Amino acid sequence: MRISGRTATFCSVNKKMRDRSYSSSGEEEPLIRNQNKIISYGAQENCPSGGSTSINADPVILASSESQLPKGKYVLETVEHGSLNVISAKFESLDYDICENHLLLEEERTKGYKFIVKKNFARWFIFLLIGMLTALIACVIDITIEELSHIKYKSLKNYVDRCISENCLYIPYLIWVISNMIPVAIGSLLVAYVEPIAAGSGIPQVKCYLNGVKMPRVVRIKTLVVKVIGVISSVVGGLAVGKEGPMIHSGAVVAAGISQGKSSTFRRDLRIFKYFREDHEKRDFVSGGAAAGVAAAFGAPVGGVLFSLEEGASFWNQSLTWRIFFASIISTFTLNVVLSSYHGHPGDLSYAGLLNFGKFENISYDFFELPIFVIMGAIGGLLGSLFNHINYKLTVFRMRNIHARWMKVMEAVMVAAFSATLGFGMMYFLNDCKPLGQDPTSNPIQMYCGDGEYNAVAAIWFQTPEASVRSLFHDPPGSHKAVSVVVFFIFYFLLSCWTYGLSVSSGLFIPSLLTGAAWGRLVGSGMASILPSSGWVDPGKYALVGAAAQLGGVVRMTISLTVILIEATGNITFGLPLMLTLIMAKWTGDFFNEGIYDIHIQLSGVPLLPWEPPPLSYNMYASEVMSHPVVTLNTVESVRRIVHVLKSETFNGFPVVDPQGDVKMCQTFRGMILRSQLIVLLKNKIFNESAEIWNCKQPSIKMFRDEYPRYLTIQEVDVTEEEMKFTVDLRPFMNPSPYTVQHSASLPRVFRLFRALGLRHLAVVNDTNEVTGIVTRKDLARYRVWRHRGRMGLEHLAISEK
Ligand code: ATP
Repeated sequence: MRISGRTATFCSVNKKMRDRSYSSSGEEEPLIRNQNKIISYGAQENCPSGGSTSINADPVILASSESQLPKGKYVLETVEHGSLNVISAKFESLDYDICENHLLLEEERTKGYKFIVKKNFARWFIFLLIGMLTALIACVIDITIEELSHIKYKSLKNYVDRCISENCLYIPYLIWVISNMIPVAIGSLLVAYVEPIAAGSGIPQVKCYLNGVKMPRVVRIKTLVVKVIGVISSVVGGLAVGKEGPMIHSGAVVAAGISQGKSSTFRRDLRIFKYFREDHEKRDFVSGGAAAGVAAAFGAPVGGVLFSLEEGASFWNQSLTWRIFFASIISTFTLNVVLSSYHGHPGDLSYAGLLNFGKFENISYDFFELPIFVIMGAIGGLLGSLFNHINYKLTVFRMRNIHARWMKVMEAVMVAAFSATLGFGMMYFLNDCKPLGQDPTSNPIQMYCGDGEYNAVAAIWFQTPEASVRSLFHDPPGSHKAVSVVVFFIFYFLLSCWTYGLSVSSGLFIPSLLTGAAWGRLVGSGMASILPSSGWVDPGKYALVGAAAQLGGVVRMTISLTVILIEATGNITFGLPLMLTLIMAKWTGDFFNEGIYDIHIQLSGVPLLPWEPPPLSYNMYASEVMSHPVVTLNTVESVRRIVHVLKSETFNGFPVVDPQGDVKMCQTFRGMILRSQLIVLLKNKIFNESAEIWNCKQPSIKMFRDEYPRYLTIQEVDVTEEEMKFTVDLRPFMNPSPYTVQHSASLPRVFRLFRALGLRHLAVVNDTNEVTGIVTRKDLARYRVWRHRGRMGLEHLAISEK
């Protein structure tokens, strides 16, 4: 049934509840892919002009076919784990909208300008601390990895050298396997049993957090500790991982910790910076922390700022940009000072980041090389999408079959053993001997090479992956045999694909750069052998382009990655080739699938809001997207009903309306109150009937900040039977002027409002300001554009309970 106009009443719109998708051919086609059992909570009755309701209805099974799908009420699906077409109900949102309630106004009135100056000063100071601490953590990670790796590879070299003559090569092989397995087991045990969210690089989690999704435990100190130990273990354990990605997560945790002046893990409240205890302030600091992390990892302060801009653009403003830039600069500078001193030349300041590409002093390019770079970008996009596809399949397999923690640890340990076996096998079987003197490693191994020669394959394996990237960039032409590089590329590509997603802390940047550098160098060497007299073919230059293409094809970050690589290369003249390569890699990769981080985010079912509203959705109205009937509370509400609502519903926000006799009638919208606020009110017994008691306490905004960010559950709040009869006046505590939309607003309008302002709940009202529905992040995140091989459509995701 078609809707004739936008002023159609909610009830008539409701009849049109059919899911549609719009394919590129312009046809409407049903695209609900999941046909599982659908459960909807709440009665389906509507008031004449809208739908607020009481909440006593039982769950009812509504439909199992797509055409009968209900809209406007919480739809839960029982779905199989590991699906891209589901969002999970377990993820809550952050609230970026400031609650301008009576308590906030009161604080502003009493504290005045002095308070504003103090707050600003504190903000800059915190950003300074974030930059310094993030850099110091990066230094600890770097120095520990360097020292431990040095010990490991030096002793392995000694064993290999000895055993070649004594014919006992199985000894260094076993030592290598064990020295891989032990650190990886430690890191993996910590991740699997202590803090699973510390697995991986943490970039997807930080991205979600900046987007406005509350990721449980993502910014806790415990997570940071596990992350730091975990990443050291993974790199020392010889996995195909890097330490750079996790720095972004570490910076975010540092920022969240410092800015709040308290630690939930240690149950310590330093009673400082209380005025920053709200989602919106905390998220600003976290974006600064993430930027400082990028700056420390890659020596790229501008790249750090752009990373935060790209991932959290919805809340950007100039003063925040400055502060984030400040944190990034401080981070790069601190890291530089410490690492330069550690390496014995304190005045030099030549260690801007953890990832050191080495100096590309004479790198230049000719105009006719640009098409080659573009083709390499396309190859990177192809390889990246292949990597993402294989990793996606593997992750789904893991989600479905590897549940037990011990199994996760076993898999990680197995990969560690396999990595050593692979390295050893390549060293043993590939006879790639080069004359000593141009050896790129501090531990050159002779193996079966002649006197005065070293094994070039061993040189790649007997060092950290970062050092290998540097070798491929800077080794003189002819340092590696083509066959060794081909074999290395194939195996390392597959190995890094298997490794990403293990239950260990690990970064993906370095393995991608290394794989790309390998095939890039191959391209360079190939061209050098075809055109031996040309002076412009430098394998190192092509290794750099290949590395950028591969990384761009896997992660698909655009502007920030370009700047990060330009800053890490330290050569602005090579900016254009890098930009061309990365753009081409992204375009090619996007043709087939999404970036690896987005795939993992979708697999976790996070309700991430994309940059843009779904295309061709101006014909969809707020009344089609919203939930109804709405569970509302009266301005003056009985404690019994509040407790009942909180216990029987999972919602986190409730429109506050004028009281009326008949609950089926729509009621005038007065404001919005959060579950957390109601809990604090109940906990502190702010009841009208006990006013004389709490009046002496003067309920203030401090009461709410003290509880932030972890509130009690309603089951933990103690309310006596006597108190159940009392009432609470919600007006001083609710947000009296939240954003609302008319039910006739289009989906793109609702989306933009939500995305730009970082909202959590958006009330939908009718012409007479009565609540007819409510829209939350999940209602919008359910509409997702899919692209596949040039085709495009809109799909409507299901919400799963898990
Ligand atoms: P969040 O989880 O983002 O912090 P929330 O828990 O309040 O917010 P969601 O979990 O996003 O809400 O909501 C799940 C579904 O319930 C959505 O479809 C939403 O529209 C609906 N919903 C949210 N609040 C209410 C309410 N007060 N009355 C009725 N439906 C609601």
